[in-house]
This record gives sequence, C-alpha cells and structure tokens, in this order.
Amino acid sequence: MPRYDFRCRECADTFEVSRPMSESGEPAPCPAGHADTVKLLTTVSVGGLSSGSRVPARAGGGGGGGGCCGGGCCG
Ligand SMILES: [Zn+2]
Repeated sequence: MPRYDFRCRECADTFEVSRPMSESGEPAPCPAGHADTVKLLTTVSVGGLSSGSRVPARAGGGGGGGGCCGGGCCG
C-alpha cells in the first residue's frame, strides 16, 4: 500500500498516511486532529535504482607497448 506525506497547516506537522491509491486524494486529518492538511508530493520508489551501463574492465595490464624501453635499449 503506498504511503503519502501530508502536512498540517495548523501545527505545521508532517505525517505519513498509508492508504490505497483510490483514496490518495482524500483529506487526512493530522495526528493532532486538525483537518487543514495538504498532501505533499512524494516519490514512491518502486524497485531498485536504474541500472547504469557498466564499462567493461580491460583485461590484462601493463603500460604502453611498442616502445623500445621494454627491451632495455633506452638506457
Ligand atoms: Zn495539526
């Protein structure tokens, strides 16, 4: 069941209400009993994070290649 954040305009308290989506637009009294509340926009997380593309790791290692330093001719 999704949860919705509400804020009371009388006591400036924010509270959470669990209710079915069909009742998401219904007013909700704050825990202190005030009826002057507004529904806040909430981002409902469904599932995990978006999967980013992974950069494949390069196999092997070692630097350069093709130079003469590997053979000792540089000094
Ligand atoms: Zn209140």
